Amino acid sequence: MKMHNFNSGPSILPKEVMEQAAAAIYDFNGVGLSILEIGHRTSWFGAVMDEARALVKELMGIGDAYEVLFLHGGASTQFMQVPMNLLDTDETAAYIDNGIWGTKAVKEARLFGNAVVVSSTKDKNHSYIAKAFTVPAGVKYLHYTTNNTVEGTQWHSFPATDVPLVADMSSDIFSRPFDYSKLALIYAGAQKNMGAAGVNIVVVKKDMLGIKRAIPAIMNYRNHIEAGSLLNTPPVFAVYVALLTLRWIKREGGLAEMEKRAKERAALFYDTLDALPAFKPLVVKEDRSMMNATFTTVRPELEDTFVALCKQEGMVGVKGHRSVGGLRVSMYNALPLSSVQAIVDLMKDFSDKNA
Ligand code: PMP
Repeated sequence: MKMHNFNSGPSILPKEVMEQAAAAIYDFNGVGLSILEIGHRTSWFGAVMDEARALVKELMGIGDAYEVLFLHGGASTQFMQVPMNLLDTDETAAYIDNGIWGTKAVKEARLFGNAVVVSSTKDKNHSYIAKAFTVPAGVKYLHYTTNNTVEGTQWHSFPATDVPLVADMSSDIFSRPFDYSKLALIYAGAQKNMGAAGVNIVVVKKDMLGIKRAIPAIMNYRNHIEAGSLLNTPPVFAVYVALLTLRWIKREGGLAEMEKRAKERAALFYDTLDALPAFKPLVVKEDRSMMNATFTTVRPELEDTFVALCKQEGMVGVKGHRSVGGLRVSMYNALPLSSVQAIVDLMKDFSDKNA
């Protein structure tokens, strides 16, 4: 160790989180057992869950109107579980489709009720965010993806609407100060800014719950709320890694500090990208993501050469998502500025030789 890790998720975690997680595999808090072999109903794990849930609320600045759950599965599970819990068969939800994850969310919602797409950026390969749209009267909620991991766009403001907002924040949660109280439901897979794969965080405003549909017990948010997020065996280790990561975010200075670092990384990367003739960005400037920068080489035949060069220099994760191609550099909370410096130096050198 250490490679320069530009993976889009699972992705880079703080070194001390990994050290603490590794130590807990051998001995959890000095109790003489591994975190992998303690029961989820012990007071030891109860304390982990309580602290993790409380830290989420603290970092989000939200109060008792909300409940925080750590649930099994990836964010894709929430594409289904959100409408299953919020949308009755005769109700309509509005969706903003800014990329492949948003598209999948719409498809799943249609299994449970009506889902109308009020804004789609498919016409231009999701290379921008369409901020003007109209939501039909009477919709239950408006769903959007705050950061489009694959396409490299990000909402830098809130969608203008009075309808309760549901946000997939998988790839930019806890990366910046954010008025979480503007949202009715937030969900995210943990494996980018918040820990290891295998657990989802769901933060839900309680007054959003209570529909007529029968919901399978394990899918029902209300059951999880009543059970304090311990309805069945949770992914114990993944919840623990999330707790370590949340503690790290707080210790480092919280969301303001995360944003400061994200801005430094993004400025260094995009300023370089804009200045180099051999490369070009894939999305419009004002909607660029601070987490996932997408770009390509001006001469398409050189893309693979650049990826190979990155590999040779110990830089991983630079190839774009298999569905869209191109290049992508993911810059999550734990990525040091020195890694961004390393790749921009390589890009400059590459551009000098290949422009
Ligand atoms: N939403 C977003 C914004 C994502 O980036 C991802 C994964 N990269 C998903 C949903 C799907 O997550 P999972 O693989 O955990 O189901």
